[in-house]
Amino acid sequence: MVCSSEYPVEIRTHTALHVVKGAVVRVLGEEAKWTASTYVSGSHGRLTVRFNRKPSPDEIALIERLANEAVEKDLPVEVIHMDRGEAEKRFGDIIYDLFPVPEEVKTLQIVLIRDTDGSIWNINACNKEHTASTKCIGRIRLGKPRFRRSKQLLEIPFDIE
Ligand SMILES: [Zn+2]
Repeated sequence: MVCSSEYPVEIRTHTALHVVKGAVVRVLGEEAKWTASTYVSGSHGRLTVRFNRKPSPDEIALIERLANEAVEKDLPVEVIHMDRGEAEKRFGDIIYDLFPVPEEVKTLQIVLIRDTDGSIWNINACNKEHTASTKCIGRIRLGKPRFRRSKQLLEIPFDIE
């Protein structure tokens, strides 16, 4: 797929959040499945998930490696508009973040990234703009994570190249 410079950097950084999240759940497990907040500014992003401990340097290195493998695989970023009830029935609460989508929203934009083996890399109800495929993001470098024990929040900063 042709991309790279066509996309505004913040669209690439935002799409990277989905890729990093997929890697976080693969490495840290289902316990890390709730996104508490996200932040994007230029080529810098930060994913904050609810979690119960600080990951080891090896785990962070593995998250970074898997995220970049997902980028290299050039996985399509599918955008599906779906009735909310239908989406909940089909996918369950995995589409949601910690903060709920307002009740009056009846149609969801679902962003779905599948791995090459067909398994779901990441799925999320998200109404922002995304790149057409993961390769368009560019290389992802994770920064130093911060674990806020009192809030049980793990912040994972990253930059894209
Ligand atoms: Zn998104």
